[in-house]
Amino acid sequence: MATAAVTGTDDIRTRAQTALARCGADLAGYKGDAITARTPITGAALFGLRADTPQDVDRAVEGARTAFRTWRTTPAPLRGALVKHLGHLLTEHQQDIADLVTIEAGKIRSEALGEVQEMIDICDFAVGLSRQLYGRTMPSERPGHRLMETWHPLGVVGVITAFNFPVAVWAWNTAVALVCGDTVVWKPSELTPLTALACSALLDRAIAATGAPAGLGQVVLGAADTGERLVDSHHVPLVSATGSTRMGRAVAPRVAARFGRAVLELGGNNAAVVTSSADLDLAVDAAVFAASGTAGQRCTTLRRLIVHEDLADPVVDRLTHAYRQLPVGDPFQAGTLVGPLVNEAAYTRMRETLDRATADGGTVRAGGERRLAEAAPGAYYVRPAIVRMPAQTAVVREETFAPVLHVLTYRDFDEAIALHNDVPQGLSGGIFTTDQSEAERFLAADGADCGIVNVNIGTSGAEIGGAFGGEKETGGGRESGSDAWRSYMRRATNTVNYSGRVALAQGVDFSRPADDR
Ligand code: NAD
Repeated sequence: MATAAVTGTDDIRTRAQTALARCGADLAGYKGDAITARTPITGAALFGLRADTPQDVDRAVEGARTAFRTWRTTPAPLRGALVKHLGHLLTEHQQDIADLVTIEAGKIRSEALGEVQEMIDICDFAVGLSRQLYGRTMPSERPGHRLMETWHPLGVVGVITAFNFPVAVWAWNTAVALVCGDTVVWKPSELTPLTALACSALLDRAIAATGAPAGLGQVVLGAADTGERLVDSHHVPLVSATGSTRMGRAVAPRVAARFGRAVLELGGNNAAVVTSSADLDLAVDAAVFAASGTAGQRCTTLRRLIVHEDLADPVVDRLTHAYRQLPVGDPFQAGTLVGPLVNEAAYTRMRETLDRATADGGTVRAGGERRLAEAAPGAYYVRPAIVRMPAQTAVVREETFAPVLHVLTYRDFDEAIALHNDVPQGLSGGIFTTDQSEAERFLAADGADCGIVNVNIGTSGAEIGGAFGGEKETGGGRESGSDAWRSYMRRATNTVNYSGRVALAQGVDFSRPADDR
């Protein structure tokens, strides 16, 4: 199924202008010709925008540094009041931000609204966190001493984000950084500048309404070179960068060279194991969403399905059947489940992957073909693809940011875990089983090697309460819930002596002769 027509570019432009105006964003102030805001719905250009120069980035960092001097000593629960207000504004403008996410990233309505919900949820989480930035007290080995740790704000956090979660990732970082007492300079993807302007306007409104220092949250528009300026700034102690492993490989050594801290959230190549005991209805339903949702453009998208060999034929048949029914089309239209790829380059990479997989002996069982080319010649709608692979070849071990699901088979459970882990990335993994020992082995230390490991759930769709991130070439960073906040603060270990005497740790005796005093 494919919906026959798509929303016209003029309508989309008007919708974007309305959403931006409602949020209070100054689109006219950003008019220029350095960046083109486009929509993957039609592939057309919407607005020309100016990019921030290196000097603009420096000014933004300086403004955030100035705000930091006040913000770091503002009590954390009061900092929480700003984030609470931001959460209210996001709730009020959920439709507006979701419209912009659909327009720029091509997400279907439900997923776009879900992304904004995630922003609201992280604001709630951060408000609670603002009263829970706990340090520990440890027993001192010395009499009359107290040993404890305190957590302090770090400074300006540089946030670099990818196109596919254009607003949630900013919110994960910003809500937590702000309650931790940091200030933020955000470099959004050059593919999604409009959503960034809208979110930045909402934060400015929240700052004004709560009397927080102006300059505390800034946005800089531009491509990789704008991000590089932030990455190299000695006044940015933490860079939280989300994007491809290629980007992380460039960013990590530059931040390390100046002894900055980096939180890296990079590419994934996520797999799920379907064991012989699996509930197949559940496994197939979950796999269809995980592999084809967001048109395969989630970092956690299911890219490899590792199926017990006895079940491979029925699983592939059921998936193929489900894929043929998937409504591909205009993400604004009710009923659409698969929107467009972000651009032509994504489509080209998908085609190359399918060609390479076929050359390696794979069989394309469904999808891969372009849809709606007549209705929207500048857009790239595709039917998600399933490829049955004889082995985990080089192309399967790479992340292709498009809906291609490679199906592999295994005979014994150890082989399934080995296949699961035999990729350079380590973001998300899942197992479908009704056998508790298989589930536990998957979760154990010698099981799945990812940062997110699920049982009877697909690889995508994490909740904000847990720490989000992955291992190996996914970068090792953690954002969002749990204790991810610690990356946004500096720890001080404090020892207080109230004994009135000098006592050295480890029993060291440094007493000088009495007549020496
Ligand atoms: P991308 O790497 O092309 O760009 C991401 C961001 O990095 C953009 O803002 C870009 O301008 C900036 N950038 C690129 N090179 C840079 C450099 N040298 N210095 C500083 N900034 C630089 O990624 P994309 O195409 O926007 O997003 C898709 C990729 O992001 C996929 O690989 C996906 O898996 C990954 N991703 C990961 C997560 C995660 O949490 N692990 C979340 C979302 C997306």
